[in-house]
Amino acid sequence: MAKRYGMVIDTVKCIGCGDCVIACKTENKVPEGLHRDWVVEEVSGEFPTLHLEFRSERCNHCENPPCVHACPTGASYVQQGSNITLVDGGKCTGCKACVAACPYDARFIMPEGFIGKCTFCLHRVEKGEQPACVSVCPAHCMTFGDLNDPSSEVSRLLRSRKSKTLAPEAGTRPSIHYLV
Ligand code: SF4
Ligand code: SF4
Ligand code: SF4
Repeated sequence: MAKRYGMVIDTVKCIGCGDCVIACKTENKVPEGLHRDWVVEEVSGEFPTLHLEFRSERCNHCENPPCVHACPTGASYVQQGSNITLVDGGKCTGCKACVAACPYDARFIMPEGFIGKCTFCLHRVEKGEQPACVSVCPAHCMTFGDLNDPSSEVSRLLRSRKSKTLAPEAGTRPSIHYLV
């Protein structure tokens, strides 16, 4: 069966330290001022019962990826055998159709003119390692694995806790789930 890689991120454990952002920049040599992941701080509720949520965000490696559908050159594609969305820099013209199509603002133009984005650290995953952001989190709030495997830790966590995805109304079927 094809892999459906995903992350389950515990917003209750996240302390908003930003180590995931630094790890990604270092691991993937992301140029200054650009980010493959970022931390959102969201306040909800009404005084005096305000709730503060920290959320580490990145490409959702959507099961129905509008970025790939929008790309006119085939530069944006889904990895064979999984759901990881990737960009072939050699085919990318920098037209930004995918940037406009992504509801999560997960793509950016690299200084060389092609698109940059989270790759789920495919180069590490292929070696059996965890994505860089997951591996450094001091709060251990991120879990990476195969959502298609009912015995994986990500599947187990989703069965055991209440969770949400971002902008489900966009119909993209995100592969990043947040435990709430
Ligand atoms: Fe594409 Fe954006 Fe979904 Fe990532 S989050 S797969 S860039 S639409
Ligand atoms: Fe495709 Fe590149 Fe245009 Fe995005 S910017 S739609 S990857 S050609
Ligand atoms: Fe960056 Fe890798 Fe984490 Fe994606 S999975 S945000 S590329 S460190």
